[in-house]
Amino acid sequence: MEVLLVEDDAAIASSLRAGLESSGMVVHHVSTGADAVASPIYDIVLLDIGLPDFDGFEVCRRIRAKSDVPIIMLTARNEEIDRIFGLEIGADDYVTKPFGLRELIARIRAVTRRRTTNNNSGASVIVIGPLSIDVASRRASMADEPLDLTTKEFDLLVHLAEHPGVVHRRNDIMESVWDTNWYGPTKTLDAHIAALRKKLNDPRWIEAVRGVGFRLEQPA
Ligand code: CA
Repeated sequence: MEVLLVEDDAAIASSLRAGLESSGMVVHHVSTGADAVASPIYDIVLLDIGLPDFDGFEVCRRIRAKSDVPIIMLTARNEEIDRIFGLEIGADDYVTKPFGLRELIARIRAVTRRRTTNNNSGASVIVIGPLSIDVASRRASMADEPLDLTTKEFDLLVHLAEHPGVVHRRNDIMESVWDTNWYGPTKTLDAHIAALRKKLNDPRWIEAVRGVGFRLEQPA
């Protein structure tokens, strides 16, 4: 596993590098946002938020524009707004400094395993009326019009569409689409549901079941 580590604090970077390398990973370290964006894409990106040129959120956005690589944000901040923002712009997970190496490695494995699982769910195409989702190529369309979905919106759509008509509990969705390690507020989920409904062009596709969760079904 090759890791792109974006961290401007030399002490943190060298101890992270040592720890990750001792668990068998190859670490490519850069210390600015510009170098991160210019770097080749590896298997995962560990991304500090406070960088000398532009911040980690901006780096995340720019990497996301060209790649689906898993991204874990490393941050000293712990405000909810940052966590939501990080996930909104496409980060997969979030660890707050100080964090233990073991915790970080567990997150790395969870995020990359989830990606692999998603990618391997086969050549399957889910079709629900006019809605078509190609799970393998991560493309979805409505009445043959391609849907422009973010990584998380796509994952969320697949999760709901794999069992249409079934109510999915909020916590199950959070665990499956985000991470079992993710204990963030479910406001993130509501924001993604709202965005997805808009893109599906008819809010009736996703029904909110009060106090329980959400159900996807073709509108009658
Ligand atoms: Ca920093």
